[in-house]
Amino acid sequence: MKATIALAGNPNAGKTTFFNALTGARQHVGNYPGVTVEKKEGTCIHNSSEFNIVDLPGTYSLTAYSPEELVARDFIVKEKPGVVINIADASNLERNLYLTLQFKELGVPVCIALNMMDVAKKRGIEIDISKLSKLMQTPVIPTVARTGQGKTELMSQTDTIVRENKEVLPLEISYGDDIDPAIAEMEDAIIKRNFLTETYPAQWIALKYMENDEQIKSAGDSADADFSAMLDGIVKRVSDHTLATLDLYPEAIIADHRYGYIRSVIKQGVIKYRHNRNRLHISDKIDQVATNRFAGPLIMVAVIFALYHFTFTYSAMPVGWIEALFGWLGSVADANLADGMLKSLIISGVIDGVGGVMGFVPLIMFMFFGIALLEDSGYFARVAFMLDRVFRIFGLHGSSVMPFIISGGIAGGCAVPGVMATRTLKSPRERMATLLTVPFMNCGAKLPVFAVLVAAFFADNEAEVMLLITLIAWAGALSVAKLLRITVIKGPATPFVMELPPYRLPTFKGLAIHTWERTWQYIKKAGTIILGISIILWAMMTFPGLPNTESQKFDNMRKQLKAAALPSTILETDSISDNGKLSEPAKTLKEQLTALDSREAEAALKFSVAGRMGTALEFFSSWAGFDWRTNIALVGGFAAKEIVVSTLGTAYSLGAVDSEETGSLSEVLAKSPDWSPLTAFSLIVFMIFYAPCFVTIVSIIRESGSWKWGVFSMAFNTLLAFILATIVFQVGSALELLGG
Ligand code: GDP
Ligand code: MG
Repeated sequence: MKATIALAGNPNAGKTTFFNALTGARQHVGNYPGVTVEKKEGTCIHNSSEFNIVDLPGTYSLTAYSPEELVARDFIVKEKPGVVINIADASNLERNLYLTLQFKELGVPVCIALNMMDVAKKRGIEIDISKLSKLMQTPVIPTVARTGQGKTELMSQTDTIVRENKEVLPLEISYGDDIDPAIAEMEDAIIKRNFLTETYPAQWIALKYMENDEQIKSAGDSADADFSAMLDGIVKRVSDHTLATLDLYPEAIIADHRYGYIRSVIKQGVIKYRHNRNRLHISDKIDQVATNRFAGPLIMVAVIFALYHFTFTYSAMPVGWIEALFGWLGSVADANLADGMLKSLIISGVIDGVGGVMGFVPLIMFMFFGIALLEDSGYFARVAFMLDRVFRIFGLHGSSVMPFIISGGIAGGCAVPGVMATRTLKSPRERMATLLTVPFMNCGAKLPVFAVLVAAFFADNEAEVMLLITLIAWAGALSVAKLLRITVIKGPATPFVMELPPYRLPTFKGLAIHTWERTWQYIKKAGTIILGISIILWAMMTFPGLPNTESQKFDNMRKQLKAAALPSTILETDSISDNGKLSEPAKTLKEQLTALDSREAEAALKFSVAGRMGTALEFFSSWAGFDWRTNIALVGGFAAKEIVVSTLGTAYSLGAVDSEETGSLSEVLAKSPDWSPLTAFSLIVFMIFYAPCFVTIVSIIRESGSWKWGVFSMAFNTLLAFILATIVFQVGSALELLGG
């Protein structure tokens, strides 16, 4: 049997880094409390035994105040892991031991991984390991998760604990004269009644009732309401007394005593400081400038602008290579496949569809690399910290920042994990407002659409326009959040304290893993979902073909053209494909025939299922400047935003049959008479705001607990997007801006 090992600890203590070191699994490493809300599992082999490792969300406590705490606690209590490895930040020992103490109170097998020993050392903090271990009655292994130092010792210790399988008794600490007797009284009653004892230790249940823990109390209510009420009565008696005498609730007194316990452990010579503690750390010095009220925001904008500049400048060349590769694949397919459905499917459905998306892999990779750099260095948390001030104005929370950034607040995220990351928000109203507005961010799937349009129409100002797009997305998201917070989700704001982790030099390995895992997700999506939808859309754009009477007309026109020409000219046109070597009349004939082919293809596209849908929508969409082709792409975008690019690609390559003429999509759009920079801009605005993709809607429904919010965001966002795009297009056209 594989033993299960849980990695638990405060946010940023290094759990995920350790998890990666132990399992070799690829996983997100962030610098912000609460990124790891989901449970991550992996396997670790040590001395030929296998362990199932679980990376729990970061928590400061085991109360039921936040979803992370509940997730972590439930896992430990219900799954009963063989060992809880408590990753504690050695440079912040006192605060980290608060959680350790709660594991001890719960009576689970714990092993402390005293992490960040390198940081502690640099700060002149010396820790007496054996003393700490003795006082906490827990094995302690010093580690540096980033280099894997201490990993083997830790696993050996874990292995020993699992093998010995000793019963662990809950640690009894004193919570003072008011509380201790009451807890003892409750504990006795709980044991006699066997109240919830198959799941939790009796003393712990008593403690939780005393701490007013909602989850345990409601479990108690459903098990035996009368008994639960009796326990509550005892708690009420104690809290009336403590409120009268000390002006404190029992939970506060319990927390005080825990801190006291830890302080006394530390005071017994566990920590020695090598130099003056009050000296400013380098991080604090950097923050004096980086989060300065005036310089901070300027630096932030400059950093983000630099990120875009870096991304667009350096990715241009590899993007070109990939486009060339798919272009070559297309011409190979064109030359080797017989005309017909299969050829059309392969070229228009598969190669153009997937190629359109894959072309952006280098761009996305560069962007992700830049973001990983900001994230791993700790600058990201500063961005969140600074934006916090702004967020409050809009009825959101400092913790809303992370979901926004994960969803693509800087660029290239995904709203699905963004929606899930809102779980860290403790206030339900701010959480709903965040949840409903994160889809406005520029996720990795919208990026390629913007990139095509920007390259086609704003080639001289790519970075500036990208920055503008980001600002529009943020302004829109914040305004909508404010709107929601004063209408459908009214209510007061929640107080909040935000914390800044120290700056750290990112490791190349960390950056590489980060970049690759995100890029790979994107590639996988292109290869599976996108390919599937691309093929379905191809079918919708191909069937039913033109009715026979219609194709007959085109055939007749072709015949007429040929009948008017000399036999030698026709022979020449049919046999030689190179325009340059043709005689004048043959060249003209060929051009006329090609134009006819294009017209037929366009007529067929318009006649197809998708074409009819697009045409039907044109009545409205023309107000925003979108033609039926764009409509097809936008309808496809409901499934996944990447589809917009691939569908535009397919729509325009189906229209232009002459393969020598099909350049990259950007070139085609730039040349098209139906498009102007204004149309492109209107489409950009629409793209930012319209309905979230299918998977995001599912997540919204799941996280909000109601399908109504899913429907709301689909309808509201699309309407909003349409109104905004219409305003852009109409005002732009009236003022003749951007070529409109
Ligand atoms: P988690 O929130 O507990 O999962 O913490 P992470 O694993 O995401 O680590 C937070 C940050 O600390 C990352 O930037 C890691 O690279 C860094 N880190 C983790 N362990 C160590 C360590 O032992 N020493 C140093 N210097 N940095 C570390
Ligand atoms: Mg983590």
